[in-house]
Amino acid sequence: TAAAIEEPIKPSVQVEYNQLLIDGKFVDAASGKTFPTLDPRTGEVIAHVAEGHSEDVDRAVAAARKAFDHGPWPRITAYERQRILLRAADLIEKHNDEIAALETWDNGKPYEQSAKIEIPMLVRLIRYYAGWADKIHGLTVPADGPYHVQTLHEPIGVAGQIIPWNFPLLMFAWKVGPALACGNTIVLKTAEQTPLSALYVAKLFLEAGLPPGVLNVISGFGPTAGAALASHMEVDKLAFTGSTDTGKVVLELAAKSNLKPVTLELGGKSPFIVCEDADVDQAVELAHFALFFNQGQCCCAGSRTFVHERVYDEFVEKAKARALKRVVGDPFKGGIEQGPQIDSDQFEKILRYIRYGVESGATLETGGDRLGNKGFYIQPTVFSNVKDDMRIAKDEIFGPVQSILKFKDLGEVVQRANNTRYGLAAGVFTKNIDTANILTRALRVGTVWVNCFDTFDAAIPFGGYKMSGQGREKGEYSLKNYLQVKAVVNPLNNPAW
Ligand code: ADP
Repeated sequence: TAAAIEEPIKPSVQVEYNQLLIDGKFVDAASGKTFPTLDPRTGEVIAHVAEGHSEDVDRAVAAARKAFDHGPWPRITAYERQRILLRAADLIEKHNDEIAALETWDNGKPYEQSAKIEIPMLVRLIRYYAGWADKIHGLTVPADGPYHVQTLHEPIGVAGQIIPWNFPLLMFAWKVGPALACGNTIVLKTAEQTPLSALYVAKLFLEAGLPPGVLNVISGFGPTAGAALASHMEVDKLAFTGSTDTGKVVLELAAKSNLKPVTLELGGKSPFIVCEDADVDQAVELAHFALFFNQGQCCCAGSRTFVHERVYDEFVEKAKARALKRVVGDPFKGGIEQGPQIDSDQFEKILRYIRYGVESGATLETGGDRLGNKGFYIQPTVFSNVKDDMRIAKDEIFGPVQSILKFKDLGEVVQRANNTRYGLAAGVFTKNIDTANILTRALRVGTVWVNCFDTFDAAIPFGGYKMSGQGREKGEYSLKNYLQVKAVVNPLNNPAW
């Protein structure tokens, strides 16, 4: 089970960039203010970081505006844009280990996950979008009458992007990749919990030849810097990833200011459905991964584990045993599966939800408390006997807390799985292709993973139904978030018509 939490291992990297990145330069906040970013292993300060406010957002938007309206980025050839993005990907790859260390230090996720999965995936995403840069085509339209009609797919302008702390660099890549490939300029606000890695990577984009002002990065808080960006009159498009409640706020700010179009990637309460024919050992392992991956801090976490009654008892026993074996500890140590939660707010919230679970009569199979007495570690926790109307089955917990629910037949589980305001993802575990087809068609979610989970290829679109969001990121679908369509109509002065 959980390894003892020892003295934290010293990261092999130093914080080089802690200012705002505006117009190609690292600068202090106009107010001179800073805020501390904390090590989730200890709650101690890693570094003080410049705290952006509305005047800094104004400066960054002005730089992005100038780079879009007068700079080379939207005007150079698509091939040149592609080459700069590919160079940036090469530089990120070269600095893989430093970037991974920074990500783990600021976020608390296992270093092996950062170094072997996330930074390589960041590189892959940037290369994927570089590939799109010179493949963005308009159409020739067969209109009624003697007209030559074409559509131009043009960049939309200055993109405002607000990202969360759970996957700081992957969320960065999902946002900046398509925006840059299409020729836009950007002001991106990182999450206040994790400002460090994006500054480092943005610097590599500059080194790769990205012109100044094309990618501006603001560290700071939501209600100040984030709100200033969402309501800015000179921002042409807003992309947001975070909680559903904050999604409503930014959508309203966008509407009340200049009606900028908004894409939203919000919360979830994803079902993971284990059918009666399932190989229980495999189902337990995948359901465990679906929930506990990244300390349970995934918007698409499989946080309602529905198990068919025929295999339920065996599943619960084995899910408990698997959680007890989960290796929790300093994320810089090899072989660690789970590090600390991001901060004290999330830590307290998760412990509160564990109490709700107990109070509402769910069976606490294992876990249920913090781990150690320092930092934000939580024991891998499993509840069985969970009912649909309990808060732990309805709300997003965003932590290492698995809730197991029993079901009898497919019609029932479809109805219960869909009975939520969310619709981000679902997992289906079965060997029966008819069962898989019924469930994949019936579930009202943006992604169905059949006999797999959290497969995040750059080409696969991701996004939510219902209150899990609007629009899709990744894949070809993401490009249209960053393009305007211009119809061009010319009369054909052709006497032969
Ligand atoms: P979480 O609860 O997971 O921190 P949030 O939705 O609050 O999720 O945060 C996601 C991102 O949204 C962060 O970058 C945060 O600073 C930003 N944010 C929070 N509140 C606002 C707001 N009122 N306006 C704009 N951005 C915000």
